[in-house]
Amino acid sequence: NRPRVVIVGGGFGGASCAKYLRRYVQDVEILLVEPQKTYHTCPFSNTVLAGMNPIDFIAHDYDTLRTAHGVEVIHQTVSEIDPVAKAASLDDGRTLGYDYLVLAPGIDMRWDAIEGYDAAAAEAMPHAWQAGDQTRLLRAQLEAMDDGGTVIIAPPNNPFRCPPGPYERASLIAHYLKQHKPKSKILILDAKEKFSKQGLFMQGWEALYPGMIEWVKGSDWGGMGRVDAGQKTIYSMFDKAFKADVVNLIPPQQAGEIALRTGLANDDGWCPVDQRSFESSIHPDLFVIGDAAVAGQMPKSGFAANSQGKVCAAAIAARLLEVDLPEPSYVNTCYSLVGPDYGISVAAVYRMQEGQIKSVEDSGGVSPTEADAQFRRDEARYARGWYQSITSDMFG
Ligand code: FAD
Repeated sequence: NRPRVVIVGGGFGGASCAKYLRRYVQDVEILLVEPQKTYHTCPFSNTVLAGMNPIDFIAHDYDTLRTAHGVEVIHQTVSEIDPVAKAASLDDGRTLGYDYLVLAPGIDMRWDAIEGYDAAAAEAMPHAWQAGDQTRLLRAQLEAMDDGGTVIIAPPNNPFRCPPGPYERASLIAHYLKQHKPKSKILILDAKEKFSKQGLFMQGWEALYPGMIEWVKGSDWGGMGRVDAGQKTIYSMFDKAFKADVVNLIPPQQAGEIALRTGLANDDGWCPVDQRSFESSIHPDLFVIGDAAVAGQMPKSGFAANSQGKVCAAAIAARLLEVDLPEPSYVNTCYSLVGPDYGISVAAVYRMQEGQIKSVEDSGGVSPTEADAQFRRDEARYARGWYQSITSDMFG
């Protein structure tokens, strides 16, 4: 009997892990369980909001994983995992036994974190922090808004999926509004006091969208108190009301629900792992990768999840082939588009240091503050190239 690895979740972490495990080991059954037949990436979903790309641009399927890489893709949801019996139950009633299981379920919203903001409220005030229907909804609201309207973006505290994401979103929504509704405004009501690549973003806003985007730090507006989704209104802790035409509320997050239900998360809602292999610190033979995992200094990004998927595949391959665990190196670059021809980035290489993933000194950094238009144009081109190469690395 061939050993069996079950991978739960076919996003950046899970799809990458499945493909690379096959590269490392031929004699293993790889089952990828993912409910969606079409996966929409969050990366580049902000270009869809801005009308720069159609939603199909960010849609991917699992055909090549199936046909070229011998991965059995099962379109179901995993409802229960029994780490002792080593079995995963599916929504259709089937049970899959496994030798190793990889959980890559991404995030779920913490629906109990903000008074008035639950799954129903997210239909009126979309988060669009998981791509697909939520992206369509927010795009439709932006299209329906009158010129002169106000868009509020409300990002959460750290840690959350894609630290530069809300600010790239503000930029590209501004790009859309500047062309189609130039009297409109964007107000960012942040939970935080500062944000990723802040200096670079603000410099870009000044250059491309002067006066259009206002960023307010948490202590200046009072922080999130409650919301009235029907009224599209956010109330601060001091009950000050902020009403807008479109509200993009990005709530606090936690590891995908199945990870919590399996008892793999800590009190903060994220899953501690041995950061060298991504094996759960709580249950052996069970691995957690991607946004759901606590991964030292790595941000919750698609590139990080892809890198972790490969490291985890190598760790499982080492077990299956009975060889020593390789010494991993991890990588991440987050590109952000401030405009279609204006890109900025933050990059790092990571290694295990003192039992944790830490960035290697002088291995990366952010784009220079002093750079000419050609440099920003080149980085926007690299961002598009990154998207093409990472999606073909996962799904091609
Ligand atoms: P996901 O990609 O979300 O995949 C999880 C999958 O698990 C989902 O398909 C889900 O259906 C499935 N799943 C969940 N529960 C179950 C279950 N019980 N059974 C079966 N399947 C299940 N990252 C970058 O690197 N670069 C970027 O430019 C970038 N831009 C972003 C822009 C935005 C607006 C946002 C919101 C995010 C962006 N990110 C970016 C971050 C990136 O999207 C995430 O970090 C990445 O998707 C994490 O991968 P993952 O595999 O952990 O989760």
